[in-house]
Formats: sequence, structure tokens, C-alpha cells
Amino acid sequence: MISQKLAEIQKAIPANVCLVAVSKTKPVSDLLEAYQAGQRHFGENKVQEMTEKWEVLPKDIQWHLIGHLQTNKVKYIAPYVHLIHSVDSLKLLAEINKQGAKNQRVISVLLQFYIAKEETKFGLDFEEAVELLTSDTFKSFNNIHVVGVMGMASFTDDESVVRAEFSQLKAIFTRLKNSFFQNDDSFKEISMGMSGDYQLAIEQGSTMVRVGSSIFGGR
Ligand SMILES: *Cc1c(COP(=O)(O)O)cnc(C)c1O
Repeated sequence: MISQKLAEIQKAIPANVCLVAVSKTKPVSDLLEAYQAGQRHFGENKVQEMTEKWEVLPKDIQWHLIGHLQTNKVKYIAPYVHLIHSVDSLKLLAEINKQGAKNQRVISVLLQFYIAKEETKFGLDFEEAVELLTSDTFKSFNNIHVVGVMGMASFTDDESVVRAEFSQLKAIFTRLKNSFFQNDDSFKEISMGMSGDYQLAIEQGSTMVRVGSSIFGGR
């Protein structure tokens, strides 16, 4: 049962770690069951699916966009999204800023970093992030707030590889914090860890885990 799974995971993670229930591909009835068990943070990887669910579900749900985001789709989520985890370019940030302004909102985002060995993963490297954060364009944005970093580890059974990748993301977070966000208390999120590796991620400093199949079952 979904409520039972949620309770088990909540018990296994520290109180200061945010559990984002990843509900992609799952029907609204599953999300409602989680909601009725007290879950408020939900993660989706597709704009259209998230927006359809947002329309019919209670409005105190906090929606996290965790999948790759195309600039032409930002407008659909800008009115309501709580946190965009997957920002990997200045161009995307510019569009989020523009749509934030249109909706009179400051939209919170995470910078996604490439930490896995696999070729298919999206994300910035450290130098690209520095370039982005020091650009005049970035400094002109008033409707976005960068509140942390996100990353995905390799799909491997080798725990030492996963641990090293999470540790690398934590180190990136710390360097950025010290260089660019020292006086910004809201730059504090490290989104890492999924069903298979959230324990390891928490050991390495995760503040936000994105857990899908362990709550809702396989997809
Ligand atoms: C699907 C997905 C998750 C959740 O994966 P599970 O293994 O089902 O927990 C987490 N993060 C991202 C970016 C995803 O796309």
C-alpha cells in the first residue's frame, strides 16, 4: 500500500530531508492516496503530465519538475511549479526568468550537474556553472532563485561508484556555496538519491530525495 510505503521511507530518512514522491506515469488515484497519507511534495518528469495532474489535484501540493525541460514548455508550469530540479543552461534560466516575471513569481530552481559516467545524463560541469553564475545575463534575473544543486548517480550496483558521485555533487555544492551564495541562506538544497540509492545519498549530504518506484511500485 502506498501509505505504508511512504511511512516506511519517512521513518528511514532524517526529518530535515525532503521526500519528493516521484509519481510519473502513475494515475491520479495513486497521488491522491499519497496525498491523503500526508504527502505534499510530488515529482514529475514531463510538463504535460504534471500540468494535467496539477489541474485536478489539491492546490497545496508542491510540484517538482525533475526531468529535462525544454524552453518552449516553461510557460505551462511557470504559474504553479514549486521547484525545477533540472536547469542546465543559461538559455533555460532566461526563459524561466521571463515566465516568472509574467506570472509575478520568483521561481526556485536547482542547477543540474553531470556526475554519472553515462553519456545520456544531462547536466552542467563545475566550470560551466561558474560561467553561468558570473555572467551579466544571470545577474540581471529577478524572477528566479537558485536554491541548490541536483544530480543523478550512475546506474550500477557498485556502491563505491555511487558514493563517489554523490560526494562529488556535495563538493560542487560546497564550492558554489562558498563562492556565490555565502550570504544566501536559501541556497541549501542538494537533490540526490532515488529508490535504489537514497540511503547512500543521505549519507553523502542529500537534503532532498526523489523516490518513485519504492513508493508507487514499478513502472
Ligand atoms: C524517475 C526519476 C526518479 C525516481 O526514480 P525511482 O528509481 O523510481 O525512485 C528520480 N529522479 C529522476 C530525475 C527521475 O526521472
